[in-house]
Amino acid sequence: MPDPLAWIPEQLELLESLERRRTIHIRSTQQGPNVAWKDREQINFSSNDYLNLAADPRLQAAACAAIEREGWGSGASPLITGRGQSQADLETALAQFEGTAAALTFASGFAANAGVIDALADRGDVILSDSKNHASIIDGTRLSKATVRVYPHRHLDYLENLLKQCGTFRRRLIVTDTLFSMDGDLAPLPELANLAEAYDAMLMVDEAHATGVFGANGRGLCEHFGLEDRVAVRVGTFSKALGGHGGFVVGSQPLIEWLVNRCRPYIFSTAPPAANAGAMLAALRIVHDEPQRRTDLLAKATWLRTQLREIGWSLGDSESQIIPVIVGTENLAMSLSAKLYEMGMLVPGIRPPSVPDGECLLRISLSCGHTQQHLDTLVAALTELRL
Ligand code: PMP
Repeated sequence: MPDPLAWIPEQLELLESLERRRTIHIRSTQQGPNVAWKDREQINFSSNDYLNLAADPRLQAAACAAIEREGWGSGASPLITGRGQSQADLETALAQFEGTAAALTFASGFAANAGVIDALADRGDVILSDSKNHASIIDGTRLSKATVRVYPHRHLDYLENLLKQCGTFRRRLIVTDTLFSMDGDLAPLPELANLAEAYDAMLMVDEAHATGVFGANGRGLCEHFGLEDRVAVRVGTFSKALGGHGGFVVGSQPLIEWLVNRCRPYIFSTAPPAANAGAMLAALRIVHDEPQRRTDLLAKATWLRTQLREIGWSLGDSESQIIPVIVGTENLAMSLSAKLYEMGMLVPGIRPPSVPDGECLLRISLSCGHTQQHLDTLVAALTELRL
């Protein structure tokens, strides 16, 4: 009988011939500013563990305590019997941290974005989405039966023109990352809030990379811009600055109740384990008690951006701890990444489909755990590679 999956090895070979076949490796130490990757010690500029919490012993202790109380598995979806006390406590603490009436937690940020968009926009509605939004937002727009219009990255005039043509749709949903994950640039949130109000649209933002990093209290870029009351739907993840796992939505009580009733990844997926909820409660406390982590991180990022721009590298419009070194071709991005690896630094080359053709880059992501020596080593290497 012919193998019905015979097409897959052929496709993999095709990827191989294009040098786009991905392979998976092992990090053989805990996550942090130094890691062993493929069994070699490296300075790690390649994680989203911005506040250096992923391996923090306080999170581990909180996770163990939650396991002692509730066991490991949640055993069911949240609406059945899966939602335990730690999960409920986390949602209460998260709403308090974010200053919203309510909060809801998800198994991943991916599930939160995809599910929330589908729950908010249906046939007869229109979704307006930034062209550089994360894959989970794109998949949410694909799941939804609403009409989808993609506007060029941060292009407000283009978006306004679209909005002018969208008056006949029942509802409008504008959706954007607040801090773009590859370019490290910021969405024009004040202007987006103005447009949403002027054209009677819902505004949904994904704070995945900004939570814990931006804003006086670490709530993200809505707080940074003073817009929290003007953004109807805020999504975030525990998986980056908070050092854990899972996604969340914060907002009004009716919003959260609607999601409990209509958001399919929430309703039909097993509730996350108590251990993660316990650890994330500890992480929220640390973000509150140790603001120096985020101020230190952003100061390091500003310093590094200045150094790299002085050497002559193009960093696009990065204003954050995500610093893209834009090199253009895939070959150059991958060979620079390989050279940095040989020099003891993990800086991934980013290529299609993560970025458009010709816009390949090295993605430096910083942690507050990086020392000045780590940063100096990177600047020296990128000076050498620039010559
Ligand atoms: N949104 C953005 C902007 C992201 O970069 C990511 C993860 N890379 C997600 C959402 C998904 O979050 P999670 O990893 O928690 O599924």
